[in-house]
Amino acid sequence: MLPVGHTRVSDGRRSVLVRLATEAAEFLLPQRCLVCGRFGGALHPQCVARLPAAEGARCQRCWRPGVGAWCGRCAASGPDAPAFDGLRTPFEFGGDARRAILEAKFRGVTALLPPLARAAAEVVPVEWGIEAVVPIPLARGRRRSRGYNQAEIAAVEVARRLGVPVRTIWLRRIRETPAQAGLAAEARGRNLRGAFEARRPDSLPARVLLVDDVTTTGATFEEAARALRLAGVSHVYALACARED
Ligand SMILES: [Zn+2]
Ligand SMILES: [Zn+2]
Repeated sequence: MLPVGHTRVSDGRRSVLVRLATEAAEFLLPQRCLVCGRFGGALHPQCVARLPAAEGARCQRCWRPGVGAWCGRCAASGPDAPAFDGLRTPFEFGGDARRAILEAKFRGVTALLPPLARAAAEVVPVEWGIEAVVPIPLARGRRRSRGYNQAEIAAVEVARRLGVPVRTIWLRRIRETPAQAGLAAEARGRNLRGAFEARRPDSLPARVLLVDDVTTTGATFEEAARALRLAGVSHVYALACARED
């Protein structure tokens, strides 16, 4: 056991200890699959294939379900259209997909992310022509207390699959936003305004893919896309493992 009980340990340090303990446990104990419970991996490929797929008619730009090829907002191009050029997710945020994402995000089971990210990379349309992958960043304080950024772990795997570089320094979260849950779509947008700042390196590629673990209304992607556009990226796409419809 780690001697955390008798000494006062700062939150940041505690999270490092928790992470080390989790990693040690993952290394020492044979891993069980979240879906079938059998040994041999955090999520078997055949179990990933059984997660709730984001199927049915969806808007080809923002991925909203239950609409034809384009939803009203995306069809009306101009200032009211989403700030990103396209969004995809392989899964709905339900069932075991939801469980896997929550376990990865809040309980440190980060081994669940690469299998989900591989499935996500497969639904990226070739015609998007992605040149680089940028994870949705956490603000510094939250990153420190959690010990990792789940979006970054997913982004690394997506980039590997697509054969493009992952760039974490292009986008910074300058303030952490209050919890988005329970806010209406419009309020979420307001809540996030100015949350991101894009740095302008010497050569930004024209076509960038933002990656997050999960998306709800796409408001976080929109705000991040807005920042990248201000820095000169002409096409910004978005990819998450699941969409909460
Ligand atoms: Zn399994
Ligand atoms: Zn749409």
